[in-house]
Amino acid sequence: MTWLFDSHIHLSDPTYDDDLSSILTGMEHMKIKACCVSMDCSNSRRTLEIAKESDLILPFIGIHPECANDNLDEMLSLIEDNIDDISGVGEIGLDPTYIQTEEDKKNQQQVFESLLSIAEKHHKPVSIHSRKSLDDVFEVMTSYSTKNALLHWFDGNKKQLRKAMDMDFFVSYGPVMVYANDKQTLLSKTDENKILVETDGPVRFSRCFEMKSAQIGFIPSVVFCASKILNKQYDEMTSLLEKNTTNFLGI
Ligand SMILES: [Zn+2]
Repeated sequence: MTWLFDSHIHLSDPTYDDDLSSILTGMEHMKIKACCVSMDCSNSRRTLEIAKESDLILPFIGIHPECANDNLDEMLSLIEDNIDDISGVGEIGLDPTYIQTEEDKKNQQQVFESLLSIAEKHHKPVSIHSRKSLDDVFEVMTSYSTKNALLHWFDGNKKQLRKAMDMDFFVSYGPVMVYANDKQTLLSKTDENKILVETDGPVRFSRCFEMKSAQIGFIPSVVFCASKILNKQYDEMTSLLEKNTTNFLGI
C-alpha cells in the first residue's frame, strides 16, 4: 500500500476546526498522511492535540517567522517535553516581510537558529519557510548538519535550486505548480529523490483552484501534475514521493 503525503499543511489552523473529523475520514479513504506544521506555542499545542486523534497526522511544532515575537523559551520546553511524540520542527525560517526594525531581524534570526539547534540535537527534520530569504537561509544552514531539511513551497531560481540540491535539502511543490510554468520547470530540474509535495493549506490558490482554501484533497492533482512533467506513471510517482517523504522524516 502506497501512502500519499502532504508534506506541509496547517491542519491545526482554526479554518479546519469544524471539519476536522471529516478531513481525517477523507485522509483515511484517500490514503493521505499529513505533516501538520504550526505557527506558535498555542497553535503547536493544537497540533499536538490533533495528532493524538489520528496516526495520519505527523506533528511538526515551532515558531513561524511571522510569529517571531512568541515565547521562544516556552517553545523550546514544549519541544523537549514532547520530543518522542513530534515528527519534526516547523514551520520555522526567515522572512523579511515581517521585519520592521533591526531588532525584529535579530529576533527572527535567533528564533530560527535556536529551533534549528534543538532539531539538530534531537535529529528531527525541519520544515523551513524561506520566502524572499533563500540566500540567508542557505547561509544560516551552513552551520547545521541536519540532512532532513525541507525548503517548503520552493520559490527560488534555477541557481538557488542547484544550491539547495548541493546542500542536500528536500524541496516541496504545491498547487501553484499545477498552473505555473516556472514551477513546472523547477520541478523538472530538481533531483528526483529530493521532491516532495504539499498544499500549505489553508492558503488560497487562484486560477484553476478559484481562490479556494487549499484542502488536503488537492494532493492527488499535484501528484498527477508532477507525474506528467516527469514522464512517469501516476503509481510510479506516488512510490517515489512516499520514499522521499519517509527519507525526509527519517522513518
Ligand atoms: Zn506554511
